Amino acid sequence: MIDFSLALLNKIDTIVKQWVEAVRQDEQIETAKELTYKAIRDSVPIVLQAISKMLSPSEDNDIKTIVEKGLEHGTLRAKQGYEAEEIAREYRLLRWIIFANIEPDLIKGSSKEVIRAVRLIDTALDEVIARGFKTYTQERLRELEDLQSQLKLTNQELTRLVHASKENLSHLAHELKTPLTSIIGYSDLFIRQQKQNSEIKDSLPNLGHIERVLSSGRQLLHLINDALEISRYEEGKMKLQPVSTDVQALINNVVDIVKPLAVEKELQLEIDLDDAPKQALTDPLRLQQIVTNLLSNAIRYTEFGNIKLVSQSLSDEDWLIAVIDTGVGINEIDLENIFDPYFRVVGDNQSFIPNSTGLGLAIVSRLVQLLQGKIEVSSQVGVGSIFRVILPLKVKVLEEKCNLKI
Ligand code: ADP
Repeated sequence: MIDFSLALLNKIDTIVKQWVEAVRQDEQIETAKELTYKAIRDSVPIVLQAISKMLSPSEDNDIKTIVEKGLEHGTLRAKQGYEAEEIAREYRLLRWIIFANIEPDLIKGSSKEVIRAVRLIDTALDEVIARGFKTYTQERLRELEDLQSQLKLTNQELTRLVHASKENLSHLAHELKTPLTSIIGYSDLFIRQQKQNSEIKDSLPNLGHIERVLSSGRQLLHLINDALEISRYEEGKMKLQPVSTDVQALINNVVDIVKPLAVEKELQLEIDLDDAPKQALTDPLRLQQIVTNLLSNAIRYTEFGNIKLVSQSLSDEDWLIAVIDTGVGINEIDLENIFDPYFRVVGDNQSFIPNSTGLGLAIVSRLVQLLQGKIEVSSQVGVGSIFRVILPLKVKVLEEKCNLKI
């Protein structure tokens, strides 16, 4: 009887390398593109060793390892953010690559031996897949439960703040309460259904529901967090945490993050940091929020042309960041309100902007104030806008650590 276990054992390294490469190249497994070799490989070599053990006529089955590794793989993929379809696809590639590699050995066996080997490999892989999907679904459900409790807490927080009769927050609550309530209700119902019906648990369409709930929940939390950020500032609770900051590296970092948005819209993104200061004593987290918001607004409100970011030292005391776009522009009347919370320009050409909250610039102007700077805007409809932020090279560290109020 031919022992195929050795043939598989000798090819594990090749199979793993080819598989990781195939997963990376696959257009439909986008999540893997951001992962390292090791993170994609996971415990697949150990699974292959266990399968090879199963193929050996002399050795016992190592189904325990296969089950264990399958379970671990599913949890890992959920944490890495894989979609269910992406996992299915990578398993399909693994099956294909295993058989492509051992085919030259298989054809040397009798048909009985080949059928036995193929069946064993298929069974082992099916087991890994089933276990993997089980823990993947469980992990997603856990995430959903976490999200639900976060949303419940946020809802309570909102109710508390609205009772404290904050004008902005009652507006916010009005905008948020309805979708928030329906998300909480829906996820609650869904989790209960999942718990009662174990058959539903493993099916792909239901994973799609989870994805949708999670993504609207995340979006909503983002909006709520923005609003709470403003209220924290207004209550004087936002503290400045100054450190010596490499501003050029910080700006470049933000540019790397927003660049894909510009590329998607075929906009040129030009960055001029030649005369920018090297260091500034400032709060890097807040500075990063300011640059991110201004750059992403410039990209969102520009359909053609280019976005430019210029940074310069102005004197021994001040420096400048200017974000210039060739976008839709803002008219004179709206310019007066542009930094008010929830203010959005109403116009035909703006209806295409998704996720507009009217909070971005309100946060930016408050953060600029926290960093002891000032912000100016000039704009012309149909031509473009320039946002200029002037900041001190060294923030003054007050005794109370800049517990500013507007
Ligand atoms: P959001 O973009 O989420 O609506 P913002 O507070 O960031 O909220 O902006 C408020 C409004 O200002 C936007 O709705 C938009 O009409 C206008 N705006 C902001 N940035 C630009 C820009 N670079 N070009 C044109 N309009 C802008």
